[in-house]
Amino acid sequence: MATETAQVVIVGGGLEGAAAAWALSRRGVTDVVVLERGTVGSGMTGKSSGIVRCHYGVSSLAAMAAVGLEIFEQAEEAFGPEIGADIGFRQTGYVVGVGEPNVDQLRRSLAAQRAVGVETEEIDADEVAKLWPWADLEPFAAFGWERRGGYGDAYQTAQAFAAAARAAGVRIRQGTAVAGLLVEGERAVGVRLADGGEVHADTVVVATGVWTRPFLAPYGIDVPIRVHREEIVMVSPGTDLGPVPVFSDLVSLQYVRPEVGGDMLFGNSDLAELSIADPDDYSNHPTDGIVETAVEKVGTRFPKLTEASIAQGYAGCYDVTPDWNPIISRGPLDGLVIAAGFSGHGFKISPAVGRLVADLVVDGASSDPRIPERDFRFARFAEGDLLTTPYPYVGAGEMR
Ligand SMILES: Cc1cc2nc3c(=O)[nH]c(=O)nc-3n(C[C@H](O)[C@H](O)[C@H](O)COP(=O)(O)OP(=O)(O)OC[C@H]3O[C@@H](n4cnc5c(N)ncnc54)[C@H](O)[C@@H]3O)c2cc1C
Repeated sequence: MATETAQVVIVGGGLEGAAAAWALSRRGVTDVVVLERGTVGSGMTGKSSGIVRCHYGVSSLAAMAAVGLEIFEQAEEAFGPEIGADIGFRQTGYVVGVGEPNVDQLRRSLAAQRAVGVETEEIDADEVAKLWPWADLEPFAAFGWERRGGYGDAYQTAQAFAAAARAAGVRIRQGTAVAGLLVEGERAVGVRLADGGEVHADTVVVATGVWTRPFLAPYGIDVPIRVHREEIVMVSPGTDLGPVPVFSDLVSLQYVRPEVGGDMLFGNSDLAELSIADPDDYSNHPTDGIVETAVEKVGTRFPKLTEASIAQGYAGCYDVTPDWNPIISRGPLDGLVIAAGFSGHGFKISPAVGRLVADLVVDGASSDPRIPERDFRFARFAEGDLLTTPYPYVGAGEMR
């Protein structure tokens, strides 16, 4: 069987593996092989809602989202004029609304976001009413507004990362399943392919999303990722919504965004209870429960959309860690980097994830002081030192 060598081998050609390959190539590291058992973006990346916002209470995540936003805005420069011509980013703006108990937290969070360079401000209900004239804004007490937010296309973005990396010399092998790591002593030295081949490398990056826990378990590495099935409902608004922004409603715990083609994408942000699933065997069809929830929540928040109806729906899976934040970390084996556990919010930060992985591979540390690698270390779970927001929202704890 064939044996190949590379400086870096990346397992998983989803958004995060492709972003890592792109970022490594931007740092001049092009002796890189990406191994993807399906095709680039064929995992959970294809299911993403693609929402782009920097509204995070955790400062390092807000900074990562700001980095992501800059790359999406300057895609032609980041990926080259042809590849970056349209990666699907739509800059509609992003509005987040909270009720009375969360006003103080919202204001403190906005100030912390501004401190790491996020362009965000508070706006009043009159301004939001102009943006979303169909909404009942009565229950809200304060709103945050990001003019530069919006939504993107995670699948297209993954293709752009991969194409730009390939153009720089990175080898991307699709249809190539990895059977496991090659380990010598305490060091990962490469991977074994399902066809019996081997790729030897100085560094192995594992970016296998919801499949990460079983992939690393044979080496005594227990990555505390649970797989949660998340449903999305498409609503036909029955009218032309025009250029509405993404709306994150932290009173009734939902988010909506316009969809190319005129529909409205609904997501339930009440994640208090996980719906544990098998990522290789889960239903893609929305349950009656989520359809009822969508009807109730959309109906309550947007009472003036009197002709709205359910168009369709689908499901994907989140790779959820105990603190709902990713692992982007060297170790626990030498030569190993884990980039997984994105917990349903890995799209907007993907360019920064790629950069941090590249920094960890090349320098062993983050090059951006706003994004300390310590925040995302694997060891935080064992240490009981979770990455949580200093500004938690009452009743919306999962809004990180
Ligand atoms: C329904 C849904 C809505 C979302 N909405 C948003 C949002 O609005 N905003 C946001 O920021 N994020 C969102 N996300 C999250 C974001 O899309 C994900 O975090 C991101 O796409 C995950 O990328 P990934 O590369 O980690 O995983 P994946 O895309 O799943 O890629 C992992 C890849 O590894 C491959 N693989 C696994 N095992 C092996 C092996 N042994 N050998 C070779 N290849 C292997 C798989 O085939 C797969 O392609 C959403 C996710 C879902 C599911």
